[in-house]
Amino acid sequence: MERLRELRDEAVAAFESAVSAAALESARVRHLGRKSEINQVSRGLKDLAEDERRAVGRAVNELKNELGALLAAAGDRIARAGASSGPGLDLTLPGRRPWVGRKHPVTRTFERLEGIFRTLGFEVALGPHVEDEFHNFEALNMPADHPARDMHDTFYIEGGKLLRTHTSPVQIRVMQSRPPPIRIIAPGRAYRNETPDASHASEFYQLEGLYVDRDVRIGELKGVLTKFLHELYGEDVGIRFRPGFFPFTEPSVEVDVECRICEGKGCSVCKGTGWVELLGAGMVDPRVFQAVGYDPDEVTGYAFGLGVDRIHMMMSGVDDIRLYHENDLRFLRQV
Ligand SMILES: [Zn+2]
Repeated sequence: MERLRELRDEAVAAFESAVSAAALESARVRHLGRKSEINQVSRGLKDLAEDERRAVGRAVNELKNELGALLAAAGDRIARAGASSGPGLDLTLPGRRPWVGRKHPVTRTFERLEGIFRTLGFEVALGPHVEDEFHNFEALNMPADHPARDMHDTFYIEGGKLLRTHTSPVQIRVMQSRPPPIRIIAPGRAYRNETPDASHASEFYQLEGLYVDRDVRIGELKGVLTKFLHELYGEDVGIRFRPGFFPFTEPSVEVDVECRICEGKGCSVCKGTGWVELLGAGMVDPRVFQAVGYDPDEVTGYAFGLGVDRIHMMMSGVDDIRLYHENDLRFLRQV
C-alpha cells in the first residue's frame, strides 16, 4: 500500500509536467502501461491472501481510476495550449491578404490598343459574332471557290450562318451603313475550327482597322502603323514591311517587329529569327468597295488587322495561346 502511494505521486507529477502529447503518451506508458509497476501489482494480486487481496485490489482500482481522470485532464490541457500558441502559430508572420481581382490580360491589351488608336482618330465599331457568308467572305472578295477560304476553317451553324472567322465583316457592315469618310477599329473575338496547340486556339482575339476617304495612300497606312508600333513598343523598335497577300487588300503587306523578348537576338517566341509577324494590312481592294456600294474611282482606303492575344504574348513572353482561355487563376495572377 505504501508503494502504491509512491507510484501514485510519481504518476501525478509526470502527467502534470508533460508539455506535449508525445511526452504525455510516454508518461502514460511508463506509469499505466502493460509493463508498469501498477500493472504488476494488479497481476500479483492472485498470490495474496484473500483479505489482503480485497484491500489491495480496491486500492489499485481506485488508483487506476484517479490516474485515468488526471491523464485525460492533462491531455485536454495540452490540446488547449496547442490551439492557442506553441509551434503551430507564429504571431510574427504577416497576415494573408485577400486577392484583389483585376482585368483579364486580353482585356487590358484591348484597352491599350484602343487607347492608342483613339488618339490617332479612330472610333470603335462592333458587330455580331454570328455572321453570314456575304459579310464574312463574299463582300471581302472571297467567293465560295476562293482558295483563301481553306485557311478559314469555319464553324457553320444552321440556316447558312457561321461564327465569324475574323473581325473584317464589321468593316463591311459599317461601310454599308454610311458613306465615307470612315475611320474605325473593330476589336473582338473570332472563331476557327482549328486543332488547338500552343499557337492556335479555336477562339482568338483580333483588332482590325479601316480608313476610307478620297485619296488615301499607302504612305498613310505605313505612317499610322509605324506610329502605333512606336506607341506600343517604344520608338527604338525595329519594324519591317514585307509584301503579303490577302483577298480583300491590294497591294498587301505583312508587318514584323523586332522580338521584344530577346530584343532581336533570337529566342523561342520568335523561333530564333529575332522578328515576330504582328500585322497584316493593305489598300482596300476595289471589289470590296463595289460589294458595299462605294465607287472605287471615287474613294480609296487602307485596312489592317492584328492578333490581340499575340500582342500580349509577345510583350509578356507567354508561349501558349491556350492559357488565355482556360481561366486558370495561377496564370491570370502572374500576367
Ligand atoms: Zn525573340
